[in-house]
Amino acid sequence: MNIILLGPPGAGKGTQAQRLEQGYGLKQISTGDMLRAEMAAGTPLGLNVKSIVESGSFVPDPVMIDLIKSRTLQSDCAHGFILDGFPRTESQAEALDTMLAARSMKIDAVLLLEVDAEQIVGRLAQRRAPDGTRRADDEPDTVRHRIQVYRDQTAPILPYYENAGRLIRIDGMQSMDAVHDAIVAALKLGTTTPAR
Ligand code: ADP
Repeated sequence: MNIILLGPPGAGKGTQAQRLEQGYGLKQISTGDMLRAEMAAGTPLGLNVKSIVESGSFVPDPVMIDLIKSRTLQSDCAHGFILDGFPRTESQAEALDTMLAARSMKIDAVLLLEVDAEQIVGRLAQRRAPDGTRRADDEPDTVRHRIQVYRDQTAPILPYYENAGRLIRIDGMQSMDAVHDAIVAALKLGTTTPAR
């Protein structure tokens, strides 16, 4: 099963993707984590995207599409994957469908985590990595910019999935457990036997 998690920054996509990965053997593909790993390792890609990522703007579509093309071919995606942070633009959404169709694959579900934008700034201001560090792009002004970029560039892809009857809306303002349960129910995964 291949899933897309959509929603504004701070909606809880990463948390929910990790729980689905642990419970159901679907591989989380977080484009934000991938880019931050490239930046930390100082690779040519990382150096190229650093200032864009830290300012909260979007990395160019062709870069992201190439990244996803090769990542989804790796063997750990064989049981399915959860896209967290991709697609973020209409052109990424179309490229994804084209790429999967060429491989006789598809996206089985598109989940939208709906949260109140006002609460996001507060949530991300509190966010810390396990080692206590903060993401440079979690500063309130940058978060506001990320929300604006989401509204301008990512929200417009919702009709692409909605019109095709593919979009499932999940209330992301509930507790983490309740959001997880809602996702499991929507995907009809069953709670005892992990679906593979
Ligand atoms: P968020 O917490 O906002 O969901 P992510 O960790 O997913 O953020 O991504 C952090 C940053 O990485 C984005 O603000 C953007 O600069 C870059 N990025 C990640 N995924 C994409 C993508 N699909 N297209 C363009 N830029 C991306």
